[in-house]
Amino acid sequence: MNAPVVPPSHVFHRSSRATPPRAVRGEGAYIFDAAGKRYLDGSGGAAVSCLGHSDQTVIQAIKDQLDQLPFAHSGFFSSDPAERLADRLVAHAPEGIDRVYLVSGGSEAVEAALKMARQYFVEIGEPLRTRFIARRQSYHGNTLGALAAGGNAWRKAKFAPLLIETNHISPCYAYRGQMEGESLEAYGLRVADELEAELNRVGPETVIAFVAEPVVGATLGAVPAVPGYFKRIREICDRYGILLILDEVMCGMGRTGTLFACEQDGIAPDIVTIAKGLGAGYQPIGAALCSGRIHAAFAEGSGFFQHGHTYNAHPTAAAAADAVLTRLTDDGLTARAAEMGETLDAALRAAFGQHPHIGDIRGRGMFRGLEIVADRASKTPFDPAEGKAARVKAAAFEAGLICYPMGGTIDGKQGDHVLLAPPFILSEDQIGELVDKLSQAFAAVL
Ligand code: PMP
Repeated sequence: MNAPVVPPSHVFHRSSRATPPRAVRGEGAYIFDAAGKRYLDGSGGAAVSCLGHSDQTVIQAIKDQLDQLPFAHSGFFSSDPAERLADRLVAHAPEGIDRVYLVSGGSEAVEAALKMARQYFVEIGEPLRTRFIARRQSYHGNTLGALAAGGNAWRKAKFAPLLIETNHISPCYAYRGQMEGESLEAYGLRVADELEAELNRVGPETVIAFVAEPVVGATLGAVPAVPGYFKRIREICDRYGILLILDEVMCGMGRTGTLFACEQDGIAPDIVTIAKGLGAGYQPIGAALCSGRIHAAFAEGSGFFQHGHTYNAHPTAAAAADAVLTRLTDDGLTARAAEMGETLDAALRAAFGQHPHIGDIRGRGMFRGLEIVADRASKTPFDPAEGKAARVKAAAFEAGLICYPMGGTIDGKQGDHVLLAPPFILSEDQIGELVDKLSQAFAAVL
């Protein structure tokens, strides 16, 4: 196939050195570029496209809303789609969650969560709480607050002087953290207890909240916490009176086989953020959901959350998300993510379980990660300078597979990894195609 002639571009792409192919059409789990090449979307972009690229129910809901009312500013109006979406999200949310703050994406959702948590303490007369505790090897978004919460040194380095104070503890990452002879439960409690130690070190009365992803996505590659970890985290937050913010921007909305990932950890947060799968790529939308207790502090205090963006609670985005939610719940696609996730996991283990450079295969539902290592026995990562993850991405793309790799750059404490987050509509044949293409990419690079 001849490469298409690439016209000059005025779009500021993420990398100024490369111009990506132009995506022109979507069909089910595939994206087609301008040259007619077909790509299987093995990562839903970045864990976004949970319904694939041509879901007619969602497309129709958007068209209907555009005919009715494309937009009304939330400073003047509420709207039927926003009200309906909030009601339905709360009905499906973890215990105690009662209010939904609708924004346009993941970073905005995290930013809203951080400010909501801070203002909550101002409202209840504890204004000396000024810092967050989060985890290393985490990502919570690229706006300044969310970037500060994240624990990826490379992403933060250029902006370090601009970031609010956040302290970081270890992630729950059993593949590398569990010690010889230590049970998974004991490991989970040991790393959860780092939160208590950090609270005591910095002074618990200065801390607003602990922020964590139930299943770590971009930075570690679909790493769930071990059983008992989040229960202990919840206990510690309650004991010291700090809030628990769970970031489910990537792992929420059915991705792990339950609508909210934390359902599987048996806990409820004070605030939970969602995005990506909420709009499934059909519209940009995110949300910070909070407990009734937090909302009551605003209602009984200053009466409003001192925050907001022009596109808060955008009616068309809300209508799209409401239709997505119907697909995920009433139409059974979250249950399908759980079921097909097992098929995907089995296929990955059959293909790569003995691969000399795949150290770990992990994840939940349609959220799976493979950690790439130079040596399986010692778990030694490749030298980041070899750029294995980026090369796997390129080779997979060449073979017609979109996957989401990340370099192992954090102080040699993790290998490169590949993250898979395909649409929940994937067929068994397409799982086979995904694994075949990934094998081709590994064969070319590892
Ligand atoms: N939190 C998590 C856990 C994420 O994975 C991401 C995006 N990768 C974000 C926040 C930021 O979301 P967005 O890119 O939509 O701003």
